Amino acid sequence: MINYDLVSTLLKRSDKKLLTTSLYLDLSSPQFTTKDAEIVLKGLIKEKKQELDGLPAGREGRQSVAEDLERLSRFVGTELDRKGAKGIAVFSCSAAKMWEAFPLPGPVRNVLLVDRGPYIRPFTMLLDEYERYCTVLVDRERARVFAVTMGEIEEQSQLLGDVPGRVRASGWGGYEERRIERHIEDHVHRHFKRAADVAYDLFQRKKFDRLIIGGRPDVLADFEKVLHSYLKERVAARVSVEASASLEEALRKTMEVHRQIEERSDRELVQRLVQSARAGGLGVLGLRATLGALRRNQVHTLVVEMGYVEKGVVCDACGFVGTDEQKCPACRAETRSVPDVVEEAIREALRRDAKVAHVSPAAGLADEGHVAAVLRFALTA
Ligand SMILES: [Zn+2]
Repeated sequence: MINYDLVSTLLKRSDKKLLTTSLYLDLSSPQFTTKDAEIVLKGLIKEKKQELDGLPAGREGRQSVAEDLERLSRFVGTELDRKGAKGIAVFSCSAAKMWEAFPLPGPVRNVLLVDRGPYIRPFTMLLDEYERYCTVLVDRERARVFAVTMGEIEEQSQLLGDVPGRVRASGWGGYEERRIERHIEDHVHRHFKRAADVAYDLFQRKKFDRLIIGGRPDVLADFEKVLHSYLKERVAARVSVEASASLEEALRKTMEVHRQIEERSDRELVQRLVQSARAGGLGVLGLRATLGALRRNQVHTLVVEMGYVEKGVVCDACGFVGTDEQKCPACRAETRSVPDVVEEAIREALRRDAKVAHVSPAAGLADEGHVAAVLRFALTA
């Protein structure tokens, strides 16, 4: 399972002065064979040919990269074990004897990149999207429990509540009816409890972040009462779905709800950030201010707009990341231009154990400079 610790460990270990080769391959299509993967890699290497020829010679330069490419070709040709992975990320720096391959839970764009450091933006985007959630569809007689990971729905359990039918009984002043009614309610209650237990088991195994419950509103209200408190606080939405809904229908509804939740939380994050930045609180907006906050170790969460790319500079001597400084303000060395300073900012954030959030262009960050940060502490002037 990929996580932020893996990538920040990778960054801390990698030598910023050496060239690292990063490869991402999309394996999400079941028709895509190992042979296809080899062809894709060959194509990527060919595309890069000119750029690779221009690399500095010697152990730290061309030779190390040539070894990386050889090893990558060998890996893709003979060692690639998909095991249900939707993609793969490989980071190699032969000069530093570093080789890390990660199966990915979601699709990625095919990329081959040689840079001073692993290319991690696609990796962190996947981590951000990689939210697990659980859906429970419930009525008074049946329950279905689904686990959803990276848009893949998997039915975990189907329960039949064993609820006795309603019997017409005549008795003394409705006594018998009330007794049967109670009897039925006991069964329904036990059925809810069982469904709640299945969801809790799943939570313990899969540690999902959100729970979406679907059913009739009155049923959901009763069901929610028996949920474990850990699950109660994870209920993100209550969706009106019949327990008899088809798998596709249930998936469609919960995916839609989940997408709305994601969009809403992106928008809320940006709104909160803008408010606190304007109030001089725990937020900064825009690339320049964000890079400054990163250098001062103030960043709790770096927030970047998906797809936003901006040129910038880095100082190889001290690690300074900036927008257009020709000389490093920290150590006076010449800076080097980079095609995507957002990638550099993400690396810097992860090296400092900050979090990274990728928000959709619809979240409103474009008006605020596309890049922002939630701060750990504010600096008083
Ligand atoms: Zn410097």
